[in-house]
Amino acid sequence: SEQGAPLSPGTTIGILGGGQLGRMLAMAAARLGLRAHIYDPSGDPPAAQVAAHHTEAAYDDTEALARFAAAVDVVTFEFENVPAPTAAALAAQTAVRPNPRALEIAQDRVLEKSFLNDLGIATAPWAEIGERAALDAALSQIAPPAVLKTRRFGYDGKGQARLTGLDDAGWAWETIGKAPAVLEGFVDFRAEISVIAVRGLNGRVVCYDPGLNEHREGILHRTTVPAPLSRKIAQDAVLIAGRIVNALDYVGTIGVELFVTPQGLLVNEIAPRVHNSGHWTIEACLVDQFENHIRAVAGWPLGDGARHSDAVMENLIGEEALAWLNLAAEPAGFHLYGKDTVRAGRKMGHITRLSPRRA
Ligand code: AMP
Repeated sequence: SEQGAPLSPGTTIGILGGGQLGRMLAMAAARLGLRAHIYDPSGDPPAAQVAAHHTEAAYDDTEALARFAAAVDVVTFEFENVPAPTAAALAAQTAVRPNPRALEIAQDRVLEKSFLNDLGIATAPWAEIGERAALDAALSQIAPPAVLKTRRFGYDGKGQARLTGLDDAGWAWETIGKAPAVLEGFVDFRAEISVIAVRGLNGRVVCYDPGLNEHREGILHRTTVPAPLSRKIAQDAVLIAGRIVNALDYVGTIGVELFVTPQGLLVNEIAPRVHNSGHWTIEACLVDQFENHIRAVAGWPLGDGARHSDAVMENLIGEEALAWLNLAAEPAGFHLYGKDTVRAGRKMGHITRLSPRRA
């Protein structure tokens, strides 16, 4: 395991990416007496509004990256598409947590699925698609319905095409831009769940209870905790997340998305960062996913992730946030991310409604 002395209060956490996840990380850092330094190419990213420092520079600006690395005590990130050369340049100069290998795996669906399957963790049946002919070959093994996904740079259902029959192959290949891809068998899942796990610098692991995730137009709409699962399935999900973070020698918070099927659990994907489906932990746990990520990357003891309440988190997408005054009047945890322009599909905030813990 990676070693290192705990960072003292007053030291600085460097965060690549300045969106709402970086914002909530910076707020958690501030609560612990740590400073946040946001690295983001845009002028007024949500996280910079609440951070001590902001470097406004491109992710391939090697001089700016070197100055950033020299100015902070550890580097972490809030999005998984951090370019590999950026992570490598920073890692040559300072500690990057979680380690860049987690990024490499999460950025590439072939590496990700191979990594999972090598650990004995089940995924949807899949095949690597390098060119058009490979798609036809794969469709003889993985019969439609199936999903074609770009190998890299997919998120919120982008870079995906669903095939209902063999006739769709040409269309699907065009739709994803004839890019390197994977073909996945379509999973007739009963539910989508996620486990948020955190691993400390000393190897200790904290897992939050699995949440049930519902999407609308490919974007997370609602997370309900506890997910309605048998004790056995809930335990299996948590154990899978634990195996993943241990195998990666991971430091920080990770989101593991799973499908619940009649045959058991399949992992859909892993997100090497704090996760939208873990926002409920802010209100429903003593120490939330953001604070535990900061604790992990700072080498501090992890905090208690036990859930004291049941919770339903809903994202406020686009114009849904215009109802902010009514939402703020509810007895709920209400969050806006400081984004000044409302755009369709844009995550503007979220609300978490609690009820007493039942089980
Ligand atoms: P992803 O970007 O891989 O997380 O996919 C986005 C969403 O598409 C998932 O949350 C699922 O709802 C759906 N999806 C992705 N892959 C599959 C699959 N193999 N079978 C069924 N649904 C899928």
